[in-house]
Amino acid sequence: MADLSDSLRRLIAMQGPIPLALYMAQANAHYYSTRDPLGAGGDFITAPEISQMFGEMVGVWMADVWRRAESPARVIYAEPGPGRGTLARDALRVAARFGLMPEVHFIEGSPELRRAQAAAFPQAVWHEDLSTLPEDAPILLVANEFLDALPVRQLVKTPQGWRERMVGLDGDRFVPVSGGLPMDSAVPQAWREAETGAIVETSPATSAVMGEIGARLAAQGGAALIIDYGYAPRQMGSTFQALRAHAHVDPFEAPGEADLTCLVDFVTAAQVAQAQGARVMGLAGQGGWLMALGMAERAAALAKAAPDETQAVEAAYHRLTAPDQMGVLFKVLGLAGREWPDGAGFAPAAAVS
Ligand code: SAH
Repeated sequence: MADLSDSLRRLIAMQGPIPLALYMAQANAHYYSTRDPLGAGGDFITAPEISQMFGEMVGVWMADVWRRAESPARVIYAEPGPGRGTLARDALRVAARFGLMPEVHFIEGSPELRRAQAAAFPQAVWHEDLSTLPEDAPILLVANEFLDALPVRQLVKTPQGWRERMVGLDGDRFVPVSGGLPMDSAVPQAWREAETGAIVETSPATSAVMGEIGARLAAQGGAALIIDYGYAPRQMGSTFQALRAHAHVDPFEAPGEADLTCLVDFVTAAQVAQAQGARVMGLAGQGGWLMALGMAERAAALAKAAPDETQAVEAAYHRLTAPDQMGVLFKVLGLAGREWPDGAGFAPAAAVS
């Protein structure tokens, strides 16, 4: 396979610095298509890989909202970025106990991960993006740590005004540089007077996906859970980072060999879906949401059934819910289609702002 660093170097040498979003998109496309990055031997671990309890709570949530919507016979389960298929496996196992057995549709770019997903779900249907999902049934969509992998655009304040943050070369090394074109009008009024060095980060790709999800829910009915690390309210600053072998590394070193991610701007994500006609159920911290769904009781039951596992179950519970672990930084955004009821775990009429 052609070395990504070399081809990016050639591109920059020929035509000058490239937008950060292009760098991130190319790096992650290469990264995810050449490996399974999850788990202890990989670069990072996700909630469904930490414990089956996570997927089980998602399954309980889906079955509950589906029943409240009077159990439509045909339902689409759609999961963008399903990784190894672990979340779908745990969630749909539990959902089936309540009679919910949806058609399984995965949106996955990586051939390597598609293979892992096919082992768990041989009957699934795969898509390159959301546009080819069926249009004739309600959708239950779950995305965990999907949006954080989508490319971001950054604008940086320089002494000459706002510029796009690009990636250039210093010798053989990739380095952030400022673009030449004025970008002041792309920065919200309230932030324009920021100090030199200030950064505004947006993710047009995330907005596009959220808009599509919102439009689908509005047109077809259904509900969605968007789970990721992210923030609300909006904030300034770069959240661009790279993970390799469970450690933070320089995102400008070795593109395509580390997982490049950014935090999700949940206010914009919710507003974009809403603008397309979806209803926002609310935004909750992952810890509070999992506890509201009954994860403490589930952990106790698992520990009772297998006393040898008690410590492991408690450690997983702590990792997923504690405020200084994944309980607060990770958030759950709930969305509903028109005519669809609220789901469990969100404060009534909680606005996302
Ligand atoms: N949801 C899983 C995996 C998270 S890793 C879990 O929680 O364990 C991110 C996932 O998103 C991977 O499956 C990756 O291949 C997929 N992905 C990343 N960028 C994508 C893109 N642009 N289009 C489709 N899938 C993408």
